[in-house]
Amino acid sequence: MPVGDEWILEGLDGIPPRLAETAQSLALIDHHVHGCYVEKIDRGAFEESFNEASTDPIPAFMTQFDSQPGFAFRRWCAPLLGLERHAPADEYWAARSALTPAELDRRLLPLAGVEHWVMDTGFSLRPITDPAAMAAESGGATSEIVRLEVVAEGLLATGVAPADFAEAFRAAIAEAAVEAKGFKTIVAYRVGFDIDWEPPTDAAVAAAVARWAALGQERPRLSDPVLEAFVVHAAVALGLPLQVHVGFGDRDLDLHRTNPMLLLPLLRRAEVQRTPIMLLHCYPYHRESAYLAQGFDNVYFDIGLGVNYLGAQSRQLIAEALELAPFAKQLYSSDAFGLPELHLVGSILWRRGMAAALGRWVREGEWSEHDACRVLEMIGAENARRVYGL
Ligand SMILES: [Zn+2]
Repeated sequence: MPVGDEWILEGLDGIPPRLAETAQSLALIDHHVHGCYVEKIDRGAFEESFNEASTDPIPAFMTQFDSQPGFAFRRWCAPLLGLERHAPADEYWAARSALTPAELDRRLLPLAGVEHWVMDTGFSLRPITDPAAMAAESGGATSEIVRLEVVAEGLLATGVAPADFAEAFRAAIAEAAVEAKGFKTIVAYRVGFDIDWEPPTDAAVAAAVARWAALGQERPRLSDPVLEAFVVHAAVALGLPLQVHVGFGDRDLDLHRTNPMLLLPLLRRAEVQRTPIMLLHCYPYHRESAYLAQGFDNVYFDIGLGVNYLGAQSRQLIAEALELAPFAKQLYSSDAFGLPELHLVGSILWRRGMAAALGRWVREGEWSEHDACRVLEMIGAENARRVYGL
């Protein structure tokens, strides 16, 4: 697949021809991704959108363009904006800001080669495209993942009595499950993984909801370990895939408390082992996640987010993600949010990283080319199609 006039495997030598063809043309399923900004943003907001960890404005002494994703945008997206590859940041910004958000989306998204976006439609500070708009702008199909904390917070805002909360929440997610392809939890952000994973009783839930309601928050924010355990178990009981944010995120999250090994008490429960648990992002805990994917039949993982943020160095992350887990247990994701550059570059970097790692093993005689192509298809699309029933 050429991206504009650029061949995405350019510079990678000795990729066997059929593997190169598969890596470039495979129609991907992006199993965890968000929409794109609907409104024009200024340069500050643009640069902040590819710094995940800081919640502050970019300081005056630096530009976020001087980072792996910044370099990757200038390499891969600049030619699509009519610039030379590696065009300077100021030229890139000038060309980008001359286009409307919808024009940018239509130019970049289709080139990601994604046939299906499984979208997290949870909270965003700025308006982002919904699944219908993403489908129209990208040419791919879309489906939706429902965020458990958003459902719980919306329910509290309705003023439901604490004693009725548990039942009302179960009814709300059962209704959401009719359309949604799965659920997502951001327990990592709210309380971390080192909590009591015993399912709380409805009485314990009612007491926790009463404490929460008494806070009188204008925008209710679920951050109680009892309620986090409750919403996770309620979702698991429905059997749809449950996505769990793991690892790297913004600094509000205690990174050391999002090591997925802390989920072992949850994962060891028999009732949890009947539901697919999708460990998202995982960096820098991708090796722990791969171990869990080997250890539990229902655990899957991806390295989305990390690939975009590691840019040219993501090749090593992609190779490391191929170490321990069976190949049926890893899925492709970009975790792109807001900027269509991230949707596109996530796809390009992953295709290049996979071609480089698998190509070397084929060249060295460790793998057959047929197996390499098969593994690309499994991680790029087949596993997601199976797990989500797409
Ligand atoms: Zn995400």
